[in-house]
Amino acid sequence: MQNTSTTAAALSPSWMNDSTAKLQKELTGKYGSQQAPRIEQGLHQVAEFWRTDDGDAATFEEFIRTNFAGDQASLDTMFNRFQSLLEQLDGHMHEITREFNQQSDLDLGPVLPFDEMFAGYDPSAHVLDDFFNNKIAFIVLLNFPLTTLDERLKNGPNWSRRQWAEVRLAERFDKRIPADVNLAIAQAGAESAQYVAQYNIWMYHLLDPQGQRLFPAKMRLLSHWNLRDEIKADYSDKQSGLAKQRMIQQVMERIVTQTIPQVVINNPTVDWSPYSNEVKPAAVKDSDTPAESRPITNSPEPDTRYAKLLKTYIASRKADPYSPTAPTLIDRRFQEDREIPEVRVKAMLEQVLSSPLVAQTAQLIQARLGRPLEPFDIWYNGFRPGSQYTEAQLDEIVAKKYPTAEAYQKDIPNLLIKLGFSPDRAQHVAENIIVDPARGSGHAMGSSMRAEKAHLRTRVEKTGMNYKGFNIAVHEMGHNVEQTFSLNDNDFTLLQGVPNTAFTEALAFVFQGHDLELLGLPAPDAKSQAEKTLNDFWSTYEIAGVALVDMSVWHWMYDHPQATPKHLDQATVQIAKDIWNHYYAPVFHKNDVVLLGVYSHMIDSFLYLPDYPIGHMIAFQIEEQMKTTGSIGPEFERMARMGRITPDLWMERATGRPVGPEALLKATQQALASAH
Ligand SMILES: [Zn+2]
Repeated sequence: MQNTSTTAAALSPSWMNDSTAKLQKELTGKYGSQQAPRIEQGLHQVAEFWRTDDGDAATFEEFIRTNFAGDQASLDTMFNRFQSLLEQLDGHMHEITREFNQQSDLDLGPVLPFDEMFAGYDPSAHVLDDFFNNKIAFIVLLNFPLTTLDERLKNGPNWSRRQWAEVRLAERFDKRIPADVNLAIAQAGAESAQYVAQYNIWMYHLLDPQGQRLFPAKMRLLSHWNLRDEIKADYSDKQSGLAKQRMIQQVMERIVTQTIPQVVINNPTVDWSPYSNEVKPAAVKDSDTPAESRPITNSPEPDTRYAKLLKTYIASRKADPYSPTAPTLIDRRFQEDREIPEVRVKAMLEQVLSSPLVAQTAQLIQARLGRPLEPFDIWYNGFRPGSQYTEAQLDEIVAKKYPTAEAYQKDIPNLLIKLGFSPDRAQHVAENIIVDPARGSGHAMGSSMRAEKAHLRTRVEKTGMNYKGFNIAVHEMGHNVEQTFSLNDNDFTLLQGVPNTAFTEALAFVFQGHDLELLGLPAPDAKSQAEKTLNDFWSTYEIAGVALVDMSVWHWMYDHPQATPKHLDQATVQIAKDIWNHYYAPVFHKNDVVLLGVYSHMIDSFLYLPDYPIGHMIAFQIEEQMKTTGSIGPEFERMARMGRITPDLWMERATGRPVGPEALLKATQQALASAH
C-alpha cells in the first residue's frame, strides 16, 4: 500500500538538511565539542517532527538558537522547571477528570444526562497537539533524548534516576499523530467495540439435536465473556451441564469460523440448532422483540467479525509514519506500552504452554471430572480455595467492624500496621487516602500531582460493609498505597507510577490475599493456596494460547496489507488451529479446534491480550518475593518507590530476576505435589 511506505523523513521540509548542518557547526562552535553528540541528536529529533506549517528555515534556526540548553546549569534549570510544570498540568487535568466523573462514580443520587457528558469529556485530549503547535514539545525534543526499547534495556541499568526521568520526559513527545489519524483510530475502535457489545446469543432459542432447549428462558449471553462464564458455571450442573458446555463450544466455533447464521445474532425471534445450523421462526417467546420481517435463512454472518478487526488494523497503520521510534502497532504495544520485546513475551508464553506441568494439571482435572477432557475444559473452574467461614459469617464480621465508609477510613492505619508497615509509614500513607462511597463495586483513583490525594471508592450498604465489598476495598487500598509511594515518595515525579498495569494489579493482589488476616481471622491454609495457584496456572495456560493467536493475527495483517475480511477469516482460523494443534491437542487429544480465536478483545482491543498472561507471571514473582522476605510493608514500599522504569529492570531490582514465568511454574509444581 502507498501510505505504509511513507516515512517521517519524507514529511520534512526540503530546506531541513541544510539548516541542521549549518546549526550543528554553529552550536558546536559555541558550546564546545563535548556538546556535539547532544546537538546532533537534538537537531535530528526536532527535524523529524518539524513540518512546513511550523515555520520556514529562518524560524527553525532562530528557534534552535534560542532554546538549546548548551551547558549543564541551563539544562538542569530546564529539566526541573519542565518536571514541575508538567506535574501541575497532569495533576490538574486529572483533577478535572475526577471531578467531572464524580456524579457517575460516587453514590450521590441520580445521574442526569449532562453528568454523562461531563464524564465523557477529556480535558487533556488536545494537549499534545497544542504543545507541538506552541513548540514546547520541540524544546523537549531539542534537549532530551528519545530512546528505543533496545537502548533502554541495554543502557537503562546504568542510567541514573535523573537520566531515566529525562528519558520519560522526552518520550511524552515521541510521536506527532495528526488529529484526523487519531480520530480514525478512535472511530475504528468505537465501531468494533459497538459490534462486540451487541453480540448476544439468546440461549433459550438454541436447540440440541433432539430439538430440546437446554437453557432457561430470557437468558442472553454476550460473546465471549458470558458464554465462557456460562461454561464455567455449568460444571456445577450435574444433570445437563456437559450437554450445555458442548453446545456453547459449538456456538463459539461458529462465531470464530463465521458459519453462524447472521439472523441468530442478538435475535430472540428465531430458534437455532448450532449442530445442524438450521434456523426456524421461534416456537416460543421470551422477549418483546417483534418477530423477524426479513426472510429467515441460515446464510452466514458475512465475515463482519474480521471486517471490524481489519478496520482497526487499517486505522492503526495510519499512525505508523508519525511514530518513528515504533513504526507499527505491534512495536507500539510491545516496545512502548509493555516495554518487553515481543520475542521475549513469545518465549515466556511458550515456556508456560510447553511446560510438563500442563499435562500433570490436566490429569488432575480429568480425575476430578471423571471423564476425558474436552476442548471447553480450557475454562475448567474446579480449583477452588476452601474457606472455614461461610460468606454469611464473613458478612456479619465485616458489617460489625465497618458500618460506614468512615469506619473503614479510620481503620486504615491499623490495617497497614497489620500488613507490616511501621506506625509512621502507615500514618503517612493513610493521610494521603480519602475514602468515598462508590456507586459500583469499588475502584481506586490515584492522583497525578503530590498536592492531590488518592481516592479509595468503596461500596457500603445501609446494613454496613459486606465481605465482598471489604475484599475489594483491601485490593483498592493496595492500589492507593502503591499510588502514594510511587508518586509522593519517588525522587522524580516524571517517574511516577509502575512499569505497566500488570504491576499495579500484582501489588494490589498482595494486599487482597491477606484480607482474612486483616479481619483477625486465620490465613488461608496450604490446601486452599494450592487450589488458588492451580486455578491461576490453568488460566495462564488458556490465555497464553489466546495471546499467541492475537499476536500472530496482527503479524499476518501487517504482512498482508491488502487482505479482505474473507482472507483474514481464513488466516485467523488457521492460526487458531495451528496454535491449538501445537500446545493443546497433545493434552485434549483433539485436533483443529478454533476456540482460541473467540476472545472479543481480539476484535476491538488492538493487541491487548498478551497483558493477561504476563500479569499472572508478574503477580507470582511479586508474591514469591513477599514470602521470601516475610514482611509486606517495607518490601512493598521499596518496590513501589522505583517508579516507571522498564519492567525487567524493576523486577530485577525487586526480586533479583527479570520478568518471567519461573515463579508461577515453581508455585504450580509445589501445588501439584500437595493437591494429589
Ligand atoms: Zn485492581
